Amino acid sequence: MRDNWPPAKIALNPEKRVLFLTKDLELIKQQLYNGLDLKMEDLSVEDLLDDINTDVMTPAWVCFDHDPAEIAKNAYAGLMHNGLRVFNENALKNGNFEVIVSGQRKGTGSSRETAPQCERWAGINIVIAASFAPIHAQNNINLGQIMGDHSMLERLQKGENIALEEFTSRYDKVTQIILEKGGLFAFAKSLKNGEIELPPLDTPPRPMTMAEKIIARNLVGQVEGQCVKPNDPVIAQVQGGYSHEFTTAQVHTFLQNEYGEDYTLPNPSKFAVFEDHLLYAHHNPKFVPHMDKIQTLRDLQVEFQKHTLVRDYSAKDGVSPGICHQVAREEFIEVGDFIQATDSHTCMGGASNALTWGVGATEYANLISAGFTSIKVPESIRFDLVGTLVPGCTAKDVILYILADHAREELTLNRSMEFGGEGLASLSIDERATLCNMATECSGRTGICEADDLLFEWMIKSQPHLDLETQKSRAVHADEGAQYHGGVHVINMSEIQPMVAHPGNPDEGIPSDPTNGANIADIGDVSIDIAYGGSCTAGKADDVAYYAQVCQAAENAGLVVKEGVDFYIQYGSGIVKDLAVSEGWHDLFVRVGVKLIDPGCGACIGAGPGVSITPEQVTVSAINRNFQGRSGPGKLYLASPLTVAASAFMGTITSWHEELFN
Ligand code: SF4
Repeated sequence: MRDNWPPAKIALNPEKRVLFLTKDLELIKQQLYNGLDLKMEDLSVEDLLDDINTDVMTPAWVCFDHDPAEIAKNAYAGLMHNGLRVFNENALKNGNFEVIVSGQRKGTGSSRETAPQCERWAGINIVIAASFAPIHAQNNINLGQIMGDHSMLERLQKGENIALEEFTSRYDKVTQIILEKGGLFAFAKSLKNGEIELPPLDTPPRPMTMAEKIIARNLVGQVEGQCVKPNDPVIAQVQGGYSHEFTTAQVHTFLQNEYGEDYTLPNPSKFAVFEDHLLYAHHNPKFVPHMDKIQTLRDLQVEFQKHTLVRDYSAKDGVSPGICHQVAREEFIEVGDFIQATDSHTCMGGASNALTWGVGATEYANLISAGFTSIKVPESIRFDLVGTLVPGCTAKDVILYILADHAREELTLNRSMEFGGEGLASLSIDERATLCNMATECSGRTGICEADDLLFEWMIKSQPHLDLETQKSRAVHADEGAQYHGGVHVINMSEIQPMVAHPGNPDEGIPSDPTNGANIADIGDVSIDIAYGGSCTAGKADDVAYYAQVCQAAENAGLVVKEGVDFYIQYGSGIVKDLAVSEGWHDLFVRVGVKLIDPGCGACIGAGPGVSITPEQVTVSAINRNFQGRSGPGKLYLASPLTVAASAFMGTITSWHEELFN
């Protein structure tokens, strides 16, 4: 770890070097291996690499290491030249660099926090770029990395000392303090010790959205009843959260490093660990060489659970209790909670009228130990659902419509997607969870649904220990006149037809993307090889009921799954599986030729049965993302559970209606 960082005046250390990530990859090699030192004044921003994505900085296989020092050894392992790594193992660290320089939009792609970790633990203190992807910038801030632009670097290389304030002044007051303290952990410690006075918010009383109301009532260090508005930097209490075996090991390591081997958590009962993501990893040949590291991740999660006594959702006899997002809403998320967890689909908890979103390991380790987190209040966008779903449509079709229509135009970008209206009231709680789950695919900050009696009944049925009146009193409703920067959009569900998101044509520059919406009626005959029903989005009780509805109709018509098609159903949780067994659906699935998989994450993470094996294979899947390569090399169409099941019996992508098999 770094001591005394950052100083009040930033200057270059004469013992250290500056690495320029140039478009000319040979120049990078000269700097890494032959001692070439460059000056900003001799280069232009156009000479530097743009859009360096986080996969390039730390490819997926690097993320199987949990120790940032190990991750740093393979920094930039994804930057290739003529099929070979530009950065050999330890190249960044051995180069003795303290500054790294690139062009536009540094840190695009996934939100993985390992990307800035690989730089920081290789000795980089200052990151220079023309612009940064927002989540990557936030991760840098949490790690205490100082970010600047090329003109500042030019001044530094001329020997100037630049006041830290010049680097931090573009941020809000709380972020400034986090950076001045050297990162999120140092900030939280100082706050807990009373060494920091939080700047008071000056937002006057105002009507608020649901997200704003939950944040406002969790404010730390502000006066009672303080209102918030978008972009207010605040510290907010968090009621609970969870991590899984891909992320827990880092959380444990960070807490040990910061608070010592005997650290404790103040409120472990509303936090949890899940063994769900890598249970079927051995099915993916690419993951097999890393199975020893995956076992280490599992072992460290067990160690963390025993150490902290958080809720334990480990696999038993190789079977997971379920996907974290599904089990969390079934078992411990309450109405009105503010929940954060280490996975992007945490937003699924919004179906319970809770504010829920995913965070990186540093933020999570900090909030689980401190009980509060630093956030910027997000803007909101409102979807008023009216009308009812036409036969053959589900909530999945509604969110595929919103993806194609609103997310594609970036109306949902980084905003809280608020769902309400009489149309929402007609949807089951599981269906509402589908809308919230895919707020992530909309690049939204989160999704949150209005509360009603249906929700309260579902809460008490799922968690009988809860008190009905307490749950009702915790519910939030948007105020009349609340401000929606993304607008208020009326969605008439009765006008939505069964949809897919098609796989595009990446070779022709049309990426595979969940926003590639198309009505099934318009896509022609698309033969399929695989139908997959499962994942956090589509492994819930109501999704399985949809699969059962179609399977029953198929059986009544004397059909089994079409020859040449593999139809997989993977239950979202043990509770869902038990329901399927007790309702007779499990046996029905077996009779009509479905391949059943125990609860957990699977094909959607490229791990487990149901992934494509060849580029020619076509899958129709009820999962949430169809990014190229994520679930195998084939073409993947996203669709509703009804469409997936109907297609499995027809052999082509087909929307469902009652007479389909007659
Ligand atoms: S089911 Fe898939 S999308 Fe959902 S949490 Fe697991 S890996 Fe992620």
